[in-house]
Amino acid sequence: MDNIYDFIKKVKNNEIDIVEHTYKLIEECKEINKEYNYLNAISEDLALNSAREIEIQLKQKAKIKNKKLLGVAISVKDSICVKDVESTAGSKILQGYKPLFDAFVIQRVKEEGGIIIGKTSQDEFGFGGFSVNVGIGFKVPKNPFDNERSCGGSSGGAAGLSQKLSNHIALGESTGGSIVEPASFCGVFGLCPTYGRVSRYGLIDFANSLDKIGSIGKTIEDVALLMNVISGYDKNDSTSLKLKNENYESYLKKPVKGMKIGIIKEAFGTGVEREIEKNVYNGIEELEEEGAKTEEISLELPIKYGIATYYMIATSEASTNLAKFCGMRYGATEKLEGSFNEYFTKVRSNNFGDEAKRRIILGTFARMAGYRDAFYLKAMKVRALMINEYKKAFKKFDALVSPTTSILPPKFSEIEKLTPLQHYMIDVMTVSPNVAGLPHLNVPVGFEKNLPVGMLLMADHLQEGKLIQLGSAVEKGK
Ligand code: GLN
Repeated sequence: MDNIYDFIKKVKNNEIDIVEHTYKLIEECKEINKEYNYLNAISEDLALNSAREIEIQLKQKAKIKNKKLLGVAISVKDSICVKDVESTAGSKILQGYKPLFDAFVIQRVKEEGGIIIGKTSQDEFGFGGFSVNVGIGFKVPKNPFDNERSCGGSSGGAAGLSQKLSNHIALGESTGGSIVEPASFCGVFGLCPTYGRVSRYGLIDFANSLDKIGSIGKTIEDVALLMNVISGYDKNDSTSLKLKNENYESYLKKPVKGMKIGIIKEAFGTGVEREIEKNVYNGIEELEEEGAKTEEISLELPIKYGIATYYMIATSEASTNLAKFCGMRYGATEKLEGSFNEYFTKVRSNNFGDEAKRRIILGTFARMAGYRDAFYLKAMKVRALMINEYKKAFKKFDALVSPTTSILPPKFSEIEKLTPLQHYMIDVMTVSPNVAGLPHLNVPVGFEKNLPVGMLLMADHLQEGKLIQLGSAVEKGK
């Protein structure tokens, strides 16, 4: 496999027939999809037209040589809108929806010469950690190392495809862990940026105060490169941060000597599989060998209260977001008959999956008059405490570390037996950095029983660069 920079250089120097290359890549996607279900839609026409456009421009010697992603295939999580390509967020209620506009990140990818190859499969609206909660009629993506196992979620298709397809980077989305957790299960890098660093314009919302778009790739270079393209201020997103752009790639080769890393005490031991711990400690050792200093730190709130806090906030916001899909202005419709209530109920009963319905009920309950203070507002207070606790830790440490997941990718037959609460527990390590809006990165650190293990690195707000620096040191050490 070419390194991504060599590949782009070859495209620029006309050493690759980009149209033929893209055609082959699309054929490869179709082949992979037969077994693994990573793509809900393959945007063949769009991809080939973009490749032809690049070919013409190269022939005309147009000024495209500075384009950061020239010829690179980009897959897009289904919840991110791509103009004229079906974008469903993995839900039957949005089937047939072809946006009239591009999300901010898609505009940026296109401007930089990236080639959009399709929409990746996910849990419906992002509701899940195993990509098994797909919408009615959608297919479940499978782990690239064992097709009887989950590839994690909710950006499951994105992570699986990143493992299987070379010269490709994926756009993922995380609300409570959906970038790093599938990245861990599929043995790839996944970077979830600081809340507000990447515009959410054109993202089909799950929970507005938590959603972040980020990058997933086979190498840390892939992830840094795509982050460079998609981060930055956007006037169309009121929560977008007005800051100077950073060059994340400049952190790739920076030495980590002297950096301080806090090992979160509560994230090891009880409940974590021994083999996972062993591999994560190997990753930590690699950082130590490169000169990083490590020390244990106790953080009480994240592991103990993360799940409860996250699910209060996430379901409350999700239930309001889903209210608009009632068969009037947005989403699927049914035959217009009966009272309004009967009609709305029919549309929502027939087109939402079970987990979406569960979250609507939970979230509506948590926001009800009389309960709002006890649940939603209480969760917001814990969120503030959690941010303070992290902030205190980051006064001393450049990054914090834990396993990304406490178990290896489970078999579908095991997942079937889990209760909803056990499903929610898969994100015990990842929800808290999401609740606090902190950037975090999955770094593949090894294999156990032929399945990948991931290490989770978290940094203070806007310190994505440090994560790339550390991730690159581990990658180099391998
Ligand atoms: N698994 C978590 C949930 O189900 C997080 C999902 C996400 O980040 N989109 O809410």
